[in-house]
Amino acid sequence: MSRYKKDFPIFQNTKFYSKDLVYLDNSATTQKPQVVINEFSQFYENSNANIYRGVYRLSEEATSLYEKSRKDVADFIGAKENEIVFTKNTTESINLIVLSFARSILKKGDLVLLSIVEHHSNIVPWLILQKEIGFKIKYIDIDDTSFEFSNIDLLLSENPKIVSITHVSNVTGIENNIKEIANKAHRNGAIIIVDGAQSIPHKKIDVVDLDCDFFVFSAHKMLGPTGVGVLFGKQKFLDEMQPIFGGGEMILSVEQNNCSFKSTPYKFEAGTINFADTIVFSKSLEYISNIGISKIEKYIKDLSLYTYKRLQEVDGIKIYGLENTSGIYSFSIKKIHPHDIASFLDEDNIAIRAGHHCAQVLMERFEVYALCRVSIYIYNDKSDIDKLVDSLSKISRLF
Ligand code: PLP
Repeated sequence: MSRYKKDFPIFQNTKFYSKDLVYLDNSATTQKPQVVINEFSQFYENSNANIYRGVYRLSEEATSLYEKSRKDVADFIGAKENEIVFTKNTTESINLIVLSFARSILKKGDLVLLSIVEHHSNIVPWLILQKEIGFKIKYIDIDDTSFEFSNIDLLLSENPKIVSITHVSNVTGIENNIKEIANKAHRNGAIIIVDGAQSIPHKKIDVVDLDCDFFVFSAHKMLGPTGVGVLFGKQKFLDEMQPIFGGGEMILSVEQNNCSFKSTPYKFEAGTINFADTIVFSKSLEYISNIGISKIEKYIKDLSLYTYKRLQEVDGIKIYGLENTSGIYSFSIKKIHPHDIASFLDEDNIAIRAGHHCAQVLMERFEVYALCRVSIYIYNDKSDIDKLVDSLSKISRLF
């Protein structure tokens, strides 16, 4: 058994079935360890007050806990504190970059590069802005055998203004070499935005080493609370950007016909933000750091290789990706609808995802409507994968 499983109370819960829960939908969201769950009551019982606004000690304590979270996040990814903006999730982080930064630099006829594997959250905001400005969008394709980007050099030579791509695909699990792509993008004068939602839970991220201009992710995919997202941006870009939400606490002064804003990152955090969850997020980072991100990386890598090997034993399976180190595998089984597979697995208390995975552009490229997906995290182990493969084999024999 994974030595980390005991830290997660949900695995002691037998609410739905007598069989133990095998949770393999970690790309959607991860489970929470007891120390993180405890942190909610700890905060609400001892330190709750609105941040920044009060001059009393309780409010000052809440403010310093919130700013500690910002520092912890900055340290976790090798950034500076004022380069970290808290948002609601990855989706909101990308929308903020698109509606503020991209809107200010893009003109009709400019080129934005996305990739065919992007999650909808890195496609739809661009499509919305495209309607307003009229820039072009081109999609980097993937190779049919390696599933890696194929025509990126060619598209970069067309001088895009912005390249916005995922670090790890939430469908294929394939990791893109961001450092190399950022280097090439910069040489071609482009800005690079990286969606790190599926990489940061189990890969060491150093934004300086990657040299990306923006890097975004969600706390809930890394053992943290929902409702907390991170937008890292190089300070020079954040300073240039205008806020898109106005309201309390992001201003310096307001008059009837004029207002001025605080500096980066405060000008982006309008109103009463989700400070309690953001404070709790710090505990998730502490939990991950106590294990060690390189240990997690190795654990996921080993289990990922085992998963790939075992999945291939299932009759009629087709995996849409190759062996990878991210622990994400999407697949179909001949003649069985993905939703039926997921429902059958649920009978054995195995939770996986079935659907288009918010990646309809990629589904169209694969000529499928839907796929099944398994995604692992630190509380999973070989016995979970064995149960999955047994159950899948049982299903494949039914048809
Ligand atoms: N990007 C990728 C690669 C994802 O896998 C996801 C969610 O699964 C998102 C973005 C969106 O994350 P959120 O729903 O937390 O905004």
